[in-house]
Order: sequence, then structure tokens, then C-alpha cells
Amino acid sequence: MIKEKGILFVLSGPSGVGKGTVRKALFEKDTELKYSISMTTRPIRSGEQEGMDYFYRSKQEFEQMIRNNKLLEYAEYVGNYYGTPRDYVEETLESGKDVFLEIEVQGALQVKENFPEGVFIFLFPPSLDELKNRIINRGTETEDLVRNRLLAAKEEIEMMDAYDYVVVNDEVETAVKKVQSIVRSEHCKRERV
Ligand code: 5GP
Repeated sequence: MIKEKGILFVLSGPSGVGKGTVRKALFEKDTELKYSISMTTRPIRSGEQEGMDYFYRSKQEFEQMIRNNKLLEYAEYVGNYYGTPRDYVEETLESGKDVFLEIEVQGALQVKENFPEGVFIFLFPPSLDELKNRIINRGTETEDLVRNRLLAAKEEIEMMDAYDYVVVNDEVETAVKKVQSIVRSEHCKRERV
């Protein structure tokens, strides 16, 4: 079997759809994929940890990373920056391991420009009402932020056609299984003897 580069998987979709929950459940089962930890300027939430959930940086530090071309993609989302450190992704793919990104839609579209061979998965909410409930129930957002996140979600859903796969997140376990089958089938697609 010829040793190939790793595959880049990108899980995206509107905020509140459950990307984080699906990703965490997936990583409890799948130890082969390498998760790329993002950088953000948003404040740390209770229960989160530096270097586990995100690398938390100041706006100045983040902008320095942008200027030095150290981010594979980045987006300003509801008043904060979020971005994917470039070196980790490129080095891990080069070493033959798969990388998994969990990012919002603007960023995913940027990645698609640089890595058209990546596999783009759109996590879709069961309904917009359900999405609103999930954003409200998260309980970490003010009313204004909830409204902004919902507006962003509506725009993000319009970008769905740019993705290779759509997974409806009505049940986490089922969504995780679907993502796992996508990973398996993409490997079969690229297998060469
Ligand atoms: P949260 O603040 O809820 O952790 O994340 C807000 C949004 O930013 C989510 O949709 C999350 O997937 C997205 N996000 C997290 N990391 C990145 C990243 O590195 N780049 C981009 N573009 N979006 C990200």
C-alpha cells in the first residue's frame, strides 16, 4: 500500500447546531483522527481549558498570527476572531495522519479554496426552532448574542451546497456514526495498492 498524505476533514455548520458535541463524541471513539485546536480571542468559558478547547489569545496576538501567515483560515465571528493554526494541520497531514477541523462556515469556505481535496461535512439542525432553543439553552449568551448567532446561522445554512456531505444532527450518536462512515468511505475511495 502506498503511504498517502492524511485526509483533511472539515466539520462545519451553524453555531448551536452541536458541532462541538458531535466532535467530542466522535473523539471519544476515534483515536485515529487528529483534532486541530483552534485559536480564539473570545473569553474562556467555565469548564474550558487553554490548549484543550482553544488557544486563547489577545486580539493583538491573533492579528500578529494573521500577518505572519500562520493561520490556515480565520474568521471574525460575533465579535471575536477564530482561526486554525497552519503548521499543525500541514505537518500532521504530511505525516500521513488525518486532521479534523470543527469550524464555522466562512472559515470552512476559505479552507476549501486552499484544500479542495479536503472533505467538507455540513452539520444541519433538525429545524431552525430547534437551533434557536439550543442557542438559548446554552445559557452563556446575552439576548443580543443569541439574536446575532441566529442571524449568522440563517446565512450559514445558505452555504450548504458547497459541502460534500450533509449530516442532520437530530441525535448525537447517529450523527457521529454518519461522520465515522464518511471517514471510512473517504479512505476506501483513496486506497491504492
Ligand atoms: P464558540 O464560541 O461557540 O466556541 O464557537 C463559535 C463558532 O466558531 C463555532 O461555530 C465554532 O465551530 C467556530 N470555530 C471554532 N474554531 C474555529 C476556527 O478555528 N475557525 C473558524 N473559522 N471557526 C471556528
